Amino acid sequence: EKFKSGLEKTRNSFSEKVNDLVFRYRKVDEDFFEELEEILIGADVGVTTVMDLIDQLKEEVKRRNIQDPRDLQSVISEKLIAIYRGGEEFSNELNMQDGLTVILFVGVNGVGKTTTIGKLAYKLKSEGKSVVMAAGDTFRAGAIEQLEVWGERVGVDVIKQNSGSDPAAVMYDAIQAAKARKADVLLCDTAGRLQNKVNLMKELEKVKRVIEREVPGAPHEVLLVIDATTGQNGLSQAKTFREATDVSGIVLTKLDGTAKGGIVLAIRKEMNVPVKFVGLGEKMDDLQQFDPEQYVYGLFA
Ligand code: GDP
Repeated sequence: EKFKSGLEKTRNSFSEKVNDLVFRYRKVDEDFFEELEEILIGADVGVTTVMDLIDQLKEEVKRRNIQDPRDLQSVISEKLIAIYRGGEEFSNELNMQDGLTVILFVGVNGVGKTTTIGKLAYKLKSEGKSVVMAAGDTFRAGAIEQLEVWGERVGVDVIKQNSGSDPAAVMYDAIQAAKARKADVLLCDTAGRLQNKVNLMKELEKVKRVIEREVPGAPHEVLLVIDATTGQNGLSQAKTFREATDVSGIVLTKLDGTAKGGIVLAIRKEMNVPVKFVGLGEKMDDLQQFDPEQYVYGLFA
């Protein structure tokens, strides 16, 4: 249900156009595919993914001898799912440990990092886990206070230092606190200024070094947060982050705020990293584990 309402904008543009297309054409021909291509590109599915999909559809049309465009609708859904699933086998589960699990969040300012940490804290807490949050974005004005608001809202402790202090020192404190509380999960915020890749890399490396030293095997997840409303631009920023650090999963936020929800497919294809969660609103329970089938069927529901 959440998926369905969260994808409303994308559904209204993308699916309605596809529906209109399959009813307007009498047979599946070159013009049909050209229009379909435009619709898919308009939904930010990404050019290479679209080309791939169109090729596969053409093959399927030949193989099954499909004449009626309406018979293509379910094939399109199948192929979208297959494209997401294609290549490396991916899990959307968090890599949870028996002891302390450390999850690091990275991403540009404004993408919804802090909000996502708050929502995930709520989700994990609802599953019976004890959670601590680390206010590692000591740079952005208001970031620490914002995380504290989330901490109060969901009833989770936030470990912080003053604004401007060393993020690595905050991580050290947070890990000691998480260990002392025997917490299950530590969620770590980081700064998201993207002024230059070398600085970003250095800062993230320093934070990671502390985490690695204090908790062997950690961080267990590095989640890159991407704002779906920024489309292809967000994707190129995301690539910069991926070059700066190893990323284990993507959180795609604000999917409710865009008609271009096809970006999920472009991200999966171009980043080769699984989308683990999607943000479908600003409330506590608006974070969903990503499931490609639910997503694609949500688009056409
Ligand atoms: P940060 O700078 O990356 O930490 O970004 P914030 O967490 O402060 O989020 C920026 C804005 O995006 C805030 O107004 C959030 O409420 C909003 N936001 C975050 N996630 C979502 C989402 O999934 N859907 C919608 N509609 N808004 C979101």
